[in-house]
Order: sequence, then C-alpha cells, then structure tokens
Amino acid sequence: MFDPHDPLAIDDLLTDEDRAVRATVRQWAADRVLPHIAEWYESGSLPGIRELARELGSIGALGMQLTGYGCAGASAVQYGLACLELEAADSGIRSLVSVQGSLAMYAIHRFGSEEQKQRWLPGMAAGEIIGCFALTEPDHGSDPAGMRTFAKREAGGDWVLTGRKMWITNGSVAGVAVVWAQTEEGIRGFVVPADSPGLSAPEIKHKWSLRASVTSELVLDEVRLPADAVLPEAVGLRGPLSCLSHARYGIVWGSMGAARTCFETALDYAKTREQFGRPIGGFQLTQAKLADMAVELHKGILLAHHLGRRMDAGRLRPEQVSFGKLNSVREAIEICRTARTVLGANGISLEYPVMRHATNLESVLTYEGTVEMHQLVLGKALTGIDAFR
Ligand SMILES: Cc1cc2nc3c(=O)[nH]c(=O)nc-3n(C[C@H](O)[C@H](O)[C@H](O)COP(=O)(O)OP(=O)(O)OC[C@H]3O[C@@H](n4cnc5c(N)ncnc54)[C@H](O)[C@@H]3O)c2cc1C
Repeated sequence: MFDPHDPLAIDDLLTDEDRAVRATVRQWAADRVLPHIAEWYESGSLPGIRELARELGSIGALGMQLTGYGCAGASAVQYGLACLELEAADSGIRSLVSVQGSLAMYAIHRFGSEEQKQRWLPGMAAGEIIGCFALTEPDHGSDPAGMRTFAKREAGGDWVLTGRKMWITNGSVAGVAVVWAQTEEGIRGFVVPADSPGLSAPEIKHKWSLRASVTSELVLDEVRLPADAVLPEAVGLRGPLSCLSHARYGIVWGSMGAARTCFETALDYAKTREQFGRPIGGFQLTQAKLADMAVELHKGILLAHHLGRRMDAGRLRPEQVSFGKLNSVREAIEICRTARTVLGANGISLEYPVMRHATNLESVLTYEGTVEMHQLVLGKALTGIDAFR
C-alpha cells in the first residue's frame, strides 16, 4: 500500500534497533520540545538548556556514534535518524546535539589524549558538561586558515591564547570549549575549561534564525593553559575539518527532518483548508507543489541513508558529505518555503512550524560550510581544479 509519509518505503531499510532509536528520540522531542518550542523561539532563548542536555544524555543522544567513555556507540544510520527526529522538532535542538557530539566530543575523542578523554567525555556524554567548538572568527569564516587567534608557547610549557571567536553555538553555556588557534607549528586545537581566567562568552542576540539556540562570541584575553591542554593528535586544519565533516553528515539527515515537518504540515493543511468551495489540495497547482516536495524530501532521506551506510562501512568520503549537505539543506529550505506558500497567511504564523523551520534553515545553509563552499569542494573533485582562491 502507498504510504504518503514514506512513499519509497525507505523504512524497509531500517533494523528493529534503528526503529527503536528513532522512536525514543521522536518521543523525547514530542514530550520535551514540541510543547514549548514556539514560545522559546519567540523569546529567543532556550530555557532549561542544562536540563535538556542531561535528558539528551540519558537517552544516549550525545556523542551517540562514539564508543567508550559513556557514549552510546550507535551506528551512523542511527545517529542520522536521531538528527532527523531532533531537527523535525527544531534545528536549534539538533544544533545543540551536533555541536556537543560531532564537534566538541568528537574532537576530544579523535584527537585528545587519554587523560583529556577521561576528564571530559563521560560528563559530556551524560549532558552534565556542555561543550562548544570555536573555529569561526569575525574576519574568518569560510576561510579558517587565516584565523588570528594565537596560542603562544611560554618557556615553562604553558600556552597563552589570545583572540576572538564568533558565532559559537552553546558558547555561553559551555563548561568546556574546543578552541582552534594558530601556533608556531600551525593550527592546533585546545581544550579550554570555561572557568579559565581571561575567557568570556558574551551571547549574540537579535538573531532571526536559530532563535532557540545559544550563540556566543568567545573572547580569549591571554588565557593561560597548561601544556597538556593541546589536542596532541591534531596538527593543521585537518583536525577541525574532520570534525566538521562528521557534523555535516548529521545535517544531511537533520535538515530532512525540518523538511518533513513542513511537508506534513502543508499536506494536512491542503486537505482541510477550503477555497473556491473545495480543499486547496484539490487544485492541480497545489498538488504539483506537494508532489515536488515529496520527491525532494524522500530523495533526500534516501541519500542520507546511502551516506550513512557508507559511513558505517568506513567508506564515506568528505566530497560525498559535501554532496549530501549541499543537496539536503538547499532542498529542505525550498520545501519549507513552498510549504509556507501552501499555508497562505497562516504560513507566517508561529502557530504553524513552517516559517520557524524555514528561517532556521537559513543558518543551517551557512554553517558547517556554505552552499558555495560545498559547490567548490565538488567542483574541485569533479574538475581537479581548485577554485577556492
Ligand atoms: C547560528 C550559527 C551558529 C554557528 N555556530 C558555529 C559554531 O558553533 N562554531 C563555529 O566555529 N562557527 C559557527 N558558525 C559560523 C559558521 O560556520 C560561519 O558563519 C560559516 O562558516 C560562514 O562564514 P562567514 O559567516 O564568515 O561567511 P563568509 O565566509 O564571510 O562568506 C560570506 C559569503 O561569501 C561566500 N564566499 C566566501 N568565500 C568564497 C569563495 N572563495 N568563493 C565563492 N563564494 C565565497 C560564502 O559562501 C558566503 O556566501 C555559526 C553560524 C551561525 C549562523
């Protein structure tokens, strides 16, 4: 039988365990996010973020794909399904989880010393400690190689960090920051406890997107760290870029969650809203919109599954992640914008989720590599010519 919610029968690809993970995360979002999200969005805040983080930790959603140190050791497909369900509620909640697990925890897990892993990861997996990942600066976003934050090595071995980071998700609520800085030996990553003297994290206000997400500057004013604060295994941009590749993979799935909510809202609305004496879903122009939305939504989910299987097999290439991020977010935002038109004036109201998702996706389109950056990655892979500069 044709299922309008799963027209390609993609669910057939899932194992029982995959379904169980998905059901747990979906239920958590339904109980803890959906009843409040419009209010949080309107107020531009995420009250109770620490409690939310602990609950996300208790369902195994933080550092989900990592192994050991209290992490769930889930598959890439399961992590993707979780991202989809979280972002079906709100991109801000998925961002909290992505930054915690795929950026901050992943950096420590992959590049950290055993001591750093023992000290930070169990608390982060449990949601007791929130992490952030500081790469972007006011003058260096798409081109992080030019970053100015500098870590100077002192004679005794201490590091002293000075600089400014911008647009840092979870910044002002974080207990620990993974900060990337220039050093004499290239770009290095540092694990910086939030109570380090000289570190401050003023919150960025007045956002019209990702309003239910904490975004901050990080100001580092001669922050002194011990010699062992550096991530020993990360030298050069390769370190932060591999973390970003992991987080982008989650976005391939997550953005389809936002798109799913908008599509389903539009489908319901089209079946019940009447104009000219019949449901608007009975007009051919509305059906064309719904058909096109469904095609892109389920193609996108299928692509996410494909990339997830490749990641589980250890065969996912960064160019393939760029392919997925470029396609998913671009199509998701288009689906949300089209859904908004189906809802007419109601489309702009917070009583419906579509405008919230559409404006959230404006950030998702930009962070973790803009559309143009992923086009350049693919362009380089296709032609063999580097057109970045
Ligand atoms: C809500 C939010 C949360 C974020 N969270 C984090 C976080 O937790 N940690 C973090 O480190 N960063 C974070 N970011 C920052 C994000 O990663 C950057 O905004 C992104 O990398 C783009 O950098 P930029 O904004 O400086 O834009 P720019 O790099 O200045 O780009 C501006 C425009 O120029 C285009 N452009 C740049 N170079 C080229 C080129 N060579 N060819 C063609 N076009 C080009 C870009 O594609 C873009 O359209 C966040 C951003 C937002 C909005």
